Amino acid sequence: MKAVQIVKPNDLRIIDMPKPEITEHDNVLVKIKASGICGSDVGIYHGTNAAATYPRVIGHEIVGEIVEVGSNAKSRKVGERVIIDQVTACGHCYACRKSRPNVCHNLQVRGVHIDGGYREFMAVPESDCYVIPDFLEYKDAVMIEPTTIAVQACSRAQLESEDDVLIIGAGALGSSLLRIVRLFNPHSITMADIDAGRLDEAMKNGATAVINSKSEDLVKRAKEITGGYGPTVTIDAACVKGSLLSACQAAGNATRVITMGFSIAPDEINQFVITSKELDIRGSRLQNRKFGEVIKLVNERKVNLQGAVSHTFPFLEAQKAFDFVDSRDPSIRKISLMFD
Ligand code: MN
Ligand code: ZN
Repeated sequence: MKAVQIVKPNDLRIIDMPKPEITEHDNVLVKIKASGICGSDVGIYHGTNAAATYPRVIGHEIVGEIVEVGSNAKSRKVGERVIIDQVTACGHCYACRKSRPNVCHNLQVRGVHIDGGYREFMAVPESDCYVIPDFLEYKDAVMIEPTTIAVQACSRAQLESEDDVLIIGAGALGSSLLRIVRLFNPHSITMADIDAGRLDEAMKNGATAVINSKSEDLVKRAKEITGGYGPTVTIDAACVKGSLLSACQAAGNATRVITMGFSIAPDEINQFVITSKELDIRGSRLQNRKFGEVIKLVNERKVNLQGAVSHTFPFLEAQKAFDFVDSRDPSIRKISLMFD
């Protein structure tokens, strides 16, 4: 079968690899139908993702059809349309024992540490497969994964309706967050970004206030919008130099600050800003078994993933697709690689 492999940074190739076979552990065979291109895939392609190892078949937003099940498969059936959980965990480390496999000490993420979804078939445990809504096309179903990332951040933030939420960054991650945060019906949702177009879009999609951090003082405005207190949940979805400090400075006393970035560039932060307010600074990584929750939201029409994908490419034209991403064409929202 064919696969898209990043041999080493900036070296993408279509390779032949053996079609996987069902084993006792990996007891269902999935014929891949669509795989999304995520910012982190682009990072692995360009060699800027510190977690990735090479050579690697990338792709972690993976949907397909079950074409074969092992004799020990109990819940999944041939013909089911599914999305595959990208997290694989050891099951016995401290994090796993605390039911947090997404930060397993021996974490292996499909498409990052082990081969992912840019290939024609995958054999995986049936427990990693989630049936997608009937009405959702394969190309759009890849969006379930980014939505789980947003659900995870809200879960880490222990979001409640009385919260004043500040989301720093209105790009792909920030927009996904907005889509989920609004379901909690919080007291206010403020989005901050340096791009006016993105802020307009945020207002249309349910933000109650926006801050243009290019022309306005983010910390000062975030306080003003919340009656001087500061946001009670601050999510850093910009993940750039200075954004964590701004988040902590804006945050109100006794509140939660969520980080989602993977940058290893040092950032200036001090103890005073954390201790004086007793901030809870919490990381949010990947997602912890959130697929079922998101699929339920989509089935209940509370989250609409249709129309979020702006472009599709045949997977054998992955190079073209990644070159297109590099062009930074403003029409790009989400790109799905499509399989036969
Ligand atoms: Mn993703
Ligand atoms: Zn573990």
